[in-house]
Amino acid sequence: MAKEIYLTNNLSNKREQFVPIDENNVRMYVCGPTVYNDPHIGNARPLVIFDILYKVLKNKFKSVNYVRNITDVDDKIINFAKENNVSIKELTDKIIKSFAEDCKFLKCEEPNHQPKATEHIDLMIEMTKTLISKGFAYENENHVYFEVKKFEDYGKLSNKKLDELIAGSRIEVSDNKKNSEDFVLWKPSNEDEPGWDSPWGRGRPGWHLECSAMSKKFLGDEFDIHGGGIDLIFPHHENEIAQSRCANSTKTFANYWVHNAFLTMSNEKMAKSQGNIIKIKDFREGNISGQVIRFALMSAHYKQPLDWNDKLLNDCQNTLDKWYKIYDLKFETVNIKNEIISPLYEDLNTPGYIANLHKLYDSAVNGTDDDKKTFISACKFVGFLTETKEEWISYKKKNVSLSEEELEEKINERNTARAEKNYQKADEIRNEIKDRKTNKYACTEDCEPDFTPLIPFKMHLPSCEVRMFAPT
Ligand code: AMP
Ligand code: ZN
Repeated sequence: MAKEIYLTNNLSNKREQFVPIDENNVRMYVCGPTVYNDPHIGNARPLVIFDILYKVLKNKFKSVNYVRNITDVDDKIINFAKENNVSIKELTDKIIKSFAEDCKFLKCEEPNHQPKATEHIDLMIEMTKTLISKGFAYENENHVYFEVKKFEDYGKLSNKKLDELIAGSRIEVSDNKKNSEDFVLWKPSNEDEPGWDSPWGRGRPGWHLECSAMSKKFLGDEFDIHGGGIDLIFPHHENEIAQSRCANSTKTFANYWVHNAFLTMSNEKMAKSQGNIIKIKDFREGNISGQVIRFALMSAHYKQPLDWNDKLLNDCQNTLDKWYKIYDLKFETVNIKNEIISPLYEDLNTPGYIANLHKLYDSAVNGTDDDKKTFISACKFVGFLTETKEEWISYKKKNVSLSEEELEEKINERNTARAEKNYQKADEIRNEIKDRKTNKYACTEDCEPDFTPLIPFKMHLPSCEVRMFAPT
C-alpha cells in the first residue's frame, strides 16, 4: 500500500492528507505566467514546485490532469506593448516561446493543458452572463462587476473579513462600482486595445475570470488542487473562488490550495516592479545548466522564502558535479522505494528529499551497481542527471572563468580585428568571450535594465559592445 500524500491546505491552514475527488482522475490547476516580459527566477519557483507535485501525484495515482494557463490579455501586456511599440501578438508570441524554452531548460514536464485566455473569451462571457442572471454581478456603463457581499464565503481563503477589505492591486478603482470591494468581470476596451464583442459592448475580461472559466472547461466545476505563488491568494484566488462557486452553484471549487512562498534577493521579493529580477533566460543563455537552477529552487521548502545568492548556485553546481561523476547511462532506471520518496509525500519536503539523495550518493559512490541505479533513479525522479555526462561537462568547460588579463587581451584582439575591418574574426572573438564567465566586468551603460552583479557580464554582451567593458 503506497504511502499517503500530505499537503498544507491554505483553505484550512492545516497540513492535510490529500484525498482526491476521483482517484482515477486527479486534477490540478496552477496559475501560469502573464506574458509581457521574460519570466524571472521568482516565476521559476512555482514552475519547479508544481512540477515536483505533478511527479509525486503521478507516482501515486494512475492519471493526473495538470492545467497551467497563459494570461495573454492583461493591462500590463497592453501597456508594455504600447510603451515598446510592438504589437500585442508579437509581444505575447515572443514571451510564450521564451517561457516554453525556460520550462524545458528547468526540466519541467509539460502540463496536460496550457490554455490561453484569448482562446476562451466565449466561456468567460458565458460565466459573466450566468453571474448576472443569478444576481451575483451587475452591469454599469459597459462594465460588469462581481458584487462581493453577495458571496458569504468571500475572504475564507485569505482570512479577510468583508469589512476589512481594501481594493487589491489588480482591482480597478472606479466610479462605476456599487462598492469598493467589488471586482471587475468585464470592462470596455478602447479602439487600440484588444476587445471582443459582448452583451456589454466591445471589451475584455477582468484578470480573475480566465482561471474560473478555463479550470471549469478542463477540470470541471470542482477539482482537487489549485496552486500558485502566495501573492495570488488575495485577490486573485479569492475572486476565482467567488466567481466559480457562484456561477456553478457548488459548495467547493478547489479542495486543496497550495501556495509557494517568495523567492527573494537580499530578502526583498524578486519582482519586476522592485527592479531586482534575474531572468531565467539569462541563465539559459549563459551556459549554466537548468538543473543547477532547479536544484537551488528545491533547496528550501516551498512554504519558506528562498533568498537567492551566488553561494547557493555554487553549492548546487558543486553537488551536481560530484553526482555526475558516478552517473553512467548504462544504468537503467528502477522504481524508487517509498522510504526514499517519503519526504516529498510529506508536504513536498524537497530539502528532505535532497538529504536522502546525499545519503544515497554516499552508499552509491563505493557501492554496487544496484546502489548506483537507486541513486541515479532517485535523482532522475526530480529532474536531476537529466543531461548526459558529456553535455554536463561541456557546460562546465564554457563556464571556466577568464582572468582579467585574458579578457583584456581578447578585447584588444577584437578591437584590432574591427579596426582592420576583419569582422568575421571580431565576431569569432566576441562569441568566444560571450561563452566565458567572469564577474569582474560589467557594462558601463544600461544595456540591460535588470543588471545585477549576480549576472555575469557575458549576459550583457549580445546587446552591447566591447567599449562598454570597464572595471566596476
Ligand atoms: P505572474 O506572471 O506575475 O502572474 O506570476 C507567475 C507566477 O509566479 C505566479 O504564481 C506568482 O505567484 C509567481 N511569482 C511571482 N514572483 C514570485 C517570487 N518572487 N517568488 C515566488 N513566486 C513568484
Ligand atoms: Zn489564476
